[in-house]
This record gives sequence, structure tokens and C-alpha cells, in this order.
Amino acid sequence: MKILIACDMEGISGVTRWEHCDSNHSEYARFRKLMTQDVNAVIDGAFIAGADEIYIGDGHNRGQNLLIEELDHRVFYNNGTFSPWSMMNGIDQKIDAVMFVGYHAKAGTGNAILAHTWSKEVLDLKINGNSMGEFGLNTMIAGHFEIPVILVSGDQAIAAEAKALVPEIETAIVKQATGYFSGCCPTPEQTQALLKQKTKKAVEHFLAEKTFVPLKITAPIDVEVEFHMPHMAEAAARLPGAERRSGRSVGMVCQNVPEAFAAFRTMCNLI
Ligand SMILES: [Zn+2]
Repeated sequence: MKILIACDMEGISGVTRWEHCDSNHSEYARFRKLMTQDVNAVIDGAFIAGADEIYIGDGHNRGQNLLIEELDHRVFYNNGTFSPWSMMNGIDQKIDAVMFVGYHAKAGTGNAILAHTWSKEVLDLKINGNSMGEFGLNTMIAGHFEIPVILVSGDQAIAAEAKALVPEIETAIVKQATGYFSGCCPTPEQTQALLKQKTKKAVEHFLAEKTFVPLKITAPIDVEVEFHMPHMAEAAARLPGAERRSGRSVGMVCQNVPEAFAAFRTMCNLI
């Protein structure tokens, strides 16, 4: 069994502030270390449960957050940007199952630590009319490759968002959000034990052929992005094929998942 562990940072143990995830801030060094430890706990659980090969995708900011020298020595580390699949860097490496570590809820979610979708400029992303965060977007990319997502870690809000889209997913709740910038955080010793245990369970279920269903999106795929300000929508609407749908939103009809992802990503880069 070959696994891709796709990581983000806002849902890592102990993270409650943007400063924790900002490479220009002095707090970042502590939290990238904690991120590496969370990921190592998942790697360990996965190998114990029977995984053969593990690939890591580093998906936060420039994709260079994990400390490669402190990562479990058995894995392969996809890092850097711009990579073909961004947060899903490595998904095209013949993977059997995906795990999301350090994820966060979508923009606008209440009681969710650092909830956002892709960037602070995006108020909402709709795929075929359904609001989706990074969990939904990246699960859709995995689904395009016929790969299921079997585990997510983060606060209780992302766990609920994930369950709504993938009911069979295993969730590791490493902190209870009490607000956008606040939460009740168990110590890393506790969360790493939880991550290891939940990962083992997810891999065991997968290997025992419990049904994990890749997320399939019916084409044509309508991508609609609502931006924070009208001038952002003006800029995003310059993408050939895109149309302005309201003061703040831009939409585009795409033929498949790679095209839909490229449209969303490009719109965000244009603003
Ligand atoms: Zn992030």
C-alpha cells in the first residue's frame, strides 16, 4: 500500500494563530517542528498498520515547512512550489490512499481555527454549486486519480466538514476550536498518540477492504469563486473562459477536474 500524506499547517497540534504558520515570524520555527512531529506520528502509525511506501506532500504556503532532516527516514518528501498539484503534490505517484494532516475548515466557518479557503482573499469556492474548502477541493483531485481520502487531522470543525463529504473518513481531532484564534489544545504527546492510533485504524480499515469511496465530480464542472473585494473579481475575470457573475464573484465551466483546479488556482493568482 502506497500512501500520500498531504500536509497543511493551520490544523497542526497547538496552532491557533497566523503567526504560528508564518515563516517571517519568530514563532514559526517551533510550529514547523511540531508539524514535523505530527506527520511523523502519522507515518509511524501507517507503517505499523501495513503501509509499504509513504510519500509526503508539503502544502502550506511555499511547500517548504517540514524539517526533512527530522522526518521519519523511510519516506519521500514532495516539497516546493509551484508544483503541478500544489497541496496535492505527489498525487500522481501511483498512490493508493491519501491522508490529510494539519487541515482546517473552509472560509467563513464559525468556531474553527484559522478557517479559510486557499487564501484570505477567497470568501467561498463553489464546485457545481456546492461550497467547498481545501478539504473538498483536494479530495476532488484525489478522486480524479480514483484515490480515496482515508484520514484527516485538525480541529473539530474540519473533522465535521470532512465527514459531511466523506462519511467513512477517519478523523483525528488534535484540538477543540473555541474561536478563530483560540482553542483547547492537548499537548503534542497526547495528540501524537491520537494521530498514530487513528492512522493505524484508517490503514487497517483500508487494507481490510472497508469501503472508502473516491470523490467523483460530474462534468462539466462549474467553478465559482467569491472574492473579498470587487477589484479581485475584476482581475480574476480576465482569465479566458471566465465570466463575472456578481460584484465579487467569477465563474467558469470546466470539462474535467484538472481544468477546474487550474481555473481556480489561476483566478487566485491573477488577483
Ligand atoms: Zn496552510
